[in-house]
Amino acid sequence: MRDSNARALRERAERVLPGGVDSPVRAYRAVPGVPPHIVRGEGAHVVDADGNEFIDFVLAYGPHILGHQPPEVITAIRAQLDRGIAYGHTVELEVELAERIVDAVGSVEMVRFVTSGTEAAMSAVRLARAATGRDRIVKFAGGYHGHADALLAEAGSGVATLGIPGSPGVPSAAVAGTIVLPYNDNDSVAAAFEDKGEQIAAVIVEPVAGNMGCVPPAPGFLDGLRAITSKWGALLVFDEVMTGFRVAYGGAQALYGIRPDLSLFGKVIGGGLPVGAYGGRRDLMERIAPSGPVYQAGTLSGSPPAMAAGIAVLDVLRHDPGLYRRLEDLGARLQAGFEESAAAAGLGCAVGRVGSMVTPFVGIEMARNFDDVKLADRERFGRLHEAWLDAGVLWPPSQFETAFLSTTHSDEDVDRTVESFARTLSTVSV
Ligand SMILES: *Cc1c(COP(=O)(O)O)cnc(C)c1O
Repeated sequence: MRDSNARALRERAERVLPGGVDSPVRAYRAVPGVPPHIVRGEGAHVVDADGNEFIDFVLAYGPHILGHQPPEVITAIRAQLDRGIAYGHTVELEVELAERIVDAVGSVEMVRFVTSGTEAAMSAVRLARAATGRDRIVKFAGGYHGHADALLAEAGSGVATLGIPGSPGVPSAAVAGTIVLPYNDNDSVAAAFEDKGEQIAAVIVEPVAGNMGCVPPAPGFLDGLRAITSKWGALLVFDEVMTGFRVAYGGAQALYGIRPDLSLFGKVIGGGLPVGAYGGRRDLMERIAPSGPVYQAGTLSGSPPAMAAGIAVLDVLRHDPGLYRRLEDLGARLQAGFEESAAAAGLGCAVGRVGSMVTPFVGIEMARNFDDVKLADRERFGRLHEAWLDAGVLWPPSQFETAFLSTTHSDEDVDRTVESFARTLSTVSV
């Protein structure tokens, strides 16, 4: 891979941006090589400043379910830009996007828009604590809910990639109320509630884990969470920032038939512009200021161009349910390709997948929770990532980030990716 422009950009960036990035995973600390200097994207492909072209499985870490530059989305953003960028007043677009989310997601009766998934998670935790009068929060190891203090404990995503337990600067008091349990383990949840149930405000969970790589919920796990939170009067918060409108139009909760009390959104609902949202039961949401006392605000919340982009994405997805079928077929093709090539190479490789979220966990047979996936062969993953870059495949640069497919990926894109995977497994020695 040619990379002289990528190196030059990194050098400049490192002088003025910590680590040369604005979000840690982008620094490629867990894989060899230099992050490509991307200058353009179209559909499933991106091009860098060194003239390399890649099949993109990063897709901006989730938003681009329709690929780069979907015409409907670009047109909608442009139309709003012609009328203004922000006014500090409620616009019709906010109402329209909220109406679409309420229509699509059965458990959501009202929505509040914010500007990131982090903000959505931290606001929902505040609301859950206010509504229950309790302080403790249950989260799962390897689960990532943004970087708010209380939720960083044993987090996935960049925190897992860098192998750090949390972060300096988080006061112990901020995490003292956080109980971290293994994903997919209902017994430990039951035990935690037996022990401290009357102090637990909420269980927050990625209904399909995506930030320790893709780890699907085991049968009964989410139902169990619903039952036990209801029994103890705690709230069930589904963090659908990644899964919302991705694994199904109604999110993971539609796929698995669970009704959480609060849900978080981001990524897909902003079409690539900065957006987050939280929503849920009306009686809970009406506690948010100014209809209730729980304070939460944002200068650019409900940003008109972002709302326009989100509406355009949702309208494409809503009008063509065949797109989810297509994403499932592409995902299944990629999964089968990985599994067959790993078997042929005599290498264990658990593939976690739900729809268009996919992770091959190199060197392990089972991926049910964070302890399992930490056993993956990260060294080999790094070499695989490097070989993929050389072959024109842009994969998330960590074993702990799920890859994404878009409706614009072709069977050929998938097959080329699998071929390169198979070639690397058979030639790279342990
Ligand atoms: C990406 C993500 C977040 C954080 O969203 P940001 O917009 O990066 O703050 C929270 N939860 C989940 C499940 C995510 O995937």
